[in-house]
Amino acid sequence: MKFDYIIKNGNLVSRENSFEADIGITDGKISAIGKELGGDAEEGVYDAGGCYVTPGFIDSHTHMSLPVSNTVSSDDFFTGGRAGAWGGVTTIIDFTTPEPGQTPAEAIRERKKEAGTCPIDFSFHGTLYGYNSLGPEDLQEAIDMGVTSFKFFTAYGESNRRTPDGELLEALTEIGKLDGLAMVHCENDEIIAKNREELKSAGKRSIEYHPESRPDYSESVAVGEVIHLANASESNLHLAHLTTKESVELLNRGKGSGIDLSGETCPQYLLLTEARYEDEDGHRYASTPPLRLDEDREALWHALDSGVLDSVATDHCPFRNDQKDEFGDDFLKIPQGLPGVETLGSLMFSEGVRKDRLSIERMVELISENPARRFGLYPEKGSLKVGTDADIVVLDPDIQKTIEPGNLHMNTDFNPFTGKTSHGWPLFVFLSGRPVLEGEKFVGREGGGSWINRRKRHQSG
Ligand SMILES: [Zn+2]
Repeated sequence: MKFDYIIKNGNLVSRENSFEADIGITDGKISAIGKELGGDAEEGVYDAGGCYVTPGFIDSHTHMSLPVSNTVSSDDFFTGGRAGAWGGVTTIIDFTTPEPGQTPAEAIRERKKEAGTCPIDFSFHGTLYGYNSLGPEDLQEAIDMGVTSFKFFTAYGESNRRTPDGELLEALTEIGKLDGLAMVHCENDEIIAKNREELKSAGKRSIEYHPESRPDYSESVAVGEVIHLANASESNLHLAHLTTKESVELLNRGKGSGIDLSGETCPQYLLLTEARYEDEDGHRYASTPPLRLDEDREALWHALDSGVLDSVATDHCPFRNDQKDEFGDDFLKIPQGLPGVETLGSLMFSEGVRKDRLSIERMVELISENPARRFGLYPEKGSLKVGTDADIVVLDPDIQKTIEPGNLHMNTDFNPFTGKTSHGWPLFVFLSGRPVLEGEKFVGREGGGSWINRRKRHQSG
């Protein structure tokens, strides 16, 4: 047989099991899997001996070039996508950024223009700030364009991004009828607004008050409510970036209630606590929801292992130090968000698999197979099956790197995990059958990624 590439001697990992085999790649797809594949590889043979071979990682929650708090997140689709490739991410799902009055379809078309430089594959969730001015035909139009999930916020009333409960209920009902998926950022806006007002008038504006303004119960109140609304409307719901023990308990209970429900968390909530806000540069850790407590971290890890949480995404939304320092003494104004797309895979391996919190199979499920299934990309993404996209990570467990901005490629001089040694990094990464990473070298290209039309969630295998 004739191949373009062969990846030899790797330990292939999927949800069910791991086994040693070679992978043959032809015309962008996996064309053969087997022991000691014979035949020619016209473009090259890659030795994966001693490495795990996994489907490309999917970061299903990123914010490249996001206009927020009078600034813009510091990675664009090129720099952020390239950093993702360095970390084994071959697909990102970012978000539309609609202007007032724009339909979801118009917002998708606009955002696609910005994302054209992306060096890895990409899609968007359709962001909706309210639903009053829209109808099912607008959702259907987006679904026809391959955008089958819609993002809502129960918080951020102060910046007009909140969807009030009545509108959310209506939107959930329509999404359920169309068999789409609602993705919700859950924090109770009124609790937060009251706390912000109180802290403001007491002159308490430094970052250490940030978690007090958005306490754990402001998240669980919203999580509980949105699950109730999804139940009442027989809709399909994905809970973004859950951070607390209580949220995980609500997710677990909600899953028993008959609706199609899933939840994600992010590495920063698994690895950091609110103690960071007391550091001298604590303001640079600003994100929403805020970092929590050790007992929350432990509950999140446990929920990843037990199957209650379904996926890990990064909420990648980086800022440079100067962007955060400008508002260093005012958490009410600081741009909220952290970098993460490049460190997703390694941190999950190093902190999850190496520390026996997760099996390697479960890790691959959490950052590849499950997001692919949930967001309508499976089996082309998220699997290593013959005939599917040759998006492949060769993960070398012996490569270690101390995390610091200078060792990484995201467009920021800040990293929340600085100083941590992370074990296990990609040795090679393939996107659509071509290498985009070889050792330390990015060999992909600007615009080398493709827009991916996503199917409805149940149409994925
Ligand atoms: Zn986000």
